[in-house]
Amino acid sequence: MFETDHSSEESPDEKAPGKDKSRQHKEYSDDSNDLVQHLREMLGRLGGTPFVNIHTAAAQQREEEERQAQKKPTALELIRQFSFKPREIRDYLDRYVISQTEAKKVLATAVCDHYNHVRRALEDEQVFRRDYAKSNVLMIGPTGVGKTYLMRCIARLIGVPFVKADATKFSETGYVGYDVEDIIRDLVKAADGDTELAQFGIVYIDEIDKIASRSTEGQKDVSGRGVQVNLLKLLEESDVRLVAQGDMMGQMQAMMSMQRGTPQATTINTKFILFIVSGAFDKLDTIIKRRVSSSVIGFGSAKSTSTDEAAVPGMVSPQTSESELLRHVQTGDIVNYGFEPEFVGRFPVRVVLDRLGVPELEKILTTAENGIWEQYVETMAGYGIDLTAEHAALAYIAEAAEREKTGARGLLTILERTFRDYKFELPGTGIKALHLTAEMIREPAKALQKLLDEYADSANQLAHAEVAAFAERFQQQSGITLKFTPKATSTLVKQAFAAGKTVRGYCEEQFKDFEYGLKLVHRDNPQEPFEMDEAQVVNPQATLTQWIKESFPTDK
Ligand code: ADP
Repeated sequence: MFETDHSSEESPDEKAPGKDKSRQHKEYSDDSNDLVQHLREMLGRLGGTPFVNIHTAAAQQREEEERQAQKKPTALELIRQFSFKPREIRDYLDRYVISQTEAKKVLATAVCDHYNHVRRALEDEQVFRRDYAKSNVLMIGPTGVGKTYLMRCIARLIGVPFVKADATKFSETGYVGYDVEDIIRDLVKAADGDTELAQFGIVYIDEIDKIASRSTEGQKDVSGRGVQVNLLKLLEESDVRLVAQGDMMGQMQAMMSMQRGTPQATTINTKFILFIVSGAFDKLDTIIKRRVSSSVIGFGSAKSTSTDEAAVPGMVSPQTSESELLRHVQTGDIVNYGFEPEFVGRFPVRVVLDRLGVPELEKILTTAENGIWEQYVETMAGYGIDLTAEHAALAYIAEAAEREKTGARGLLTILERTFRDYKFELPGTGIKALHLTAEMIREPAKALQKLLDEYADSANQLAHAEVAAFAERFQQQSGITLKFTPKATSTLVKQAFAAGKTVRGYCEEQFKDFEYGLKLVHRDNPQEPFEMDEAQVVNPQATLTQWIKESFPTDK
């Protein structure tokens, strides 16, 4: 029997998300459509557990008591106690994100506005019911300058789930590809299935400029408009079904959890989800330029850094930079770019992010906490190599990265290119420290060869030890002892080097049939060790064949 109608337990207080367990239960009963009925019958026929509603209240209460005893606030409690000030969030961002001063300020304030409102709405029914224009954010800026990174850092600081999607992935119909509502379902996954917490998460949609309904070349793009309309529904308050219509597996799981007496919510409300969209908005500057050029007063207020609807226009000079123009973006410009006015209106907070120059890129390498360079130091430490660099090397990387024109991503590209061969060749050579110089980045092949030559002796010693390590592994796997004379060991090392292989790989290949073959040879006395000399390791297959032949008495 299903016991789904918990409406009698409802109190007015339970309307707010995070308080509304009983409503969620009720939604299941409303939802018992044909498919659910069909699944129910199917499960019954398959001999599934009878539909018993196990009363879990006691178990839930126990969990709650345990949690209380541990005194660890849940993520939800942290939201209820939200007390960050914008400047505190900015300080936190300063540790990880270089430059982007204005964006940090604008985002920190928008986030505080939003979560202060959420906290107050959860405390006060009247605030909850009141109409509220969310501080959704539109970020304009080139790739790799920290747009996503800023938001990830903020979400981590305040402990809310965060998801990112590219607007280009959304299909208008939702029948094929990624439906806009899927991003809300992803938010639940990011919250480890906690639907209450997901309702206070942050959704980040990148490449939003790609769903402009008119491309910059002027053609109409109808599907872009369709996606905007679909997104608009999410931006306004809406309930999103947690199990997509075509998701049979999800329907089954929902059924089963209901059967176990632990029904989950069926929908998630988007009222308190904060939306951030971003894009490079190529050529938006030309739209702005056209507008301000034709305006009587003109354009050219002092170097304001935030997008400023009320900017006092002055003259546009040919030298006015793209980002300076973007800072004066108005709703009408974005509408001209191909967005529905209602859509643009849902993003009252707008901010332009700066391109990263060489000094900023260098700072990202040297001073950002958990930065890209630290990642490389850790990667090399994984191979037992202590990585350091002279200042000129890092400056060189920053310059080369800037030429890539992909922001901080350029740093990754240059580092990857620089370290590719080092990471491949150095492990196993005995090199314990690597001090990167500008010269090594300019001519990596030459520098690497020099290093390898310097460490040839230690690499040779390690390679000898590898032969013994191979014999030990062979013993562990097969139970057969294989010994190599010192000369045989040297021969194997030389042969492996000549073949351009590691000793480990070379030995495994050369002796691949030995386990089976030697078991045949020593079928009567498996404990007896085998010793191989120099002549025998030159052609191990021939040696094995010879041993096998000798072990079988031939007919006279
Ligand atoms: P986008 O602006 O395209 O969203 P991201 O924020 O994803 O770029 O940046 C890619 C990576 O580059 C980040 O994960 C981060 O490591 C690094 N990065 C980008 N901008 C900055 C910055 N201003 N300060 C520190 N690191 C940055």
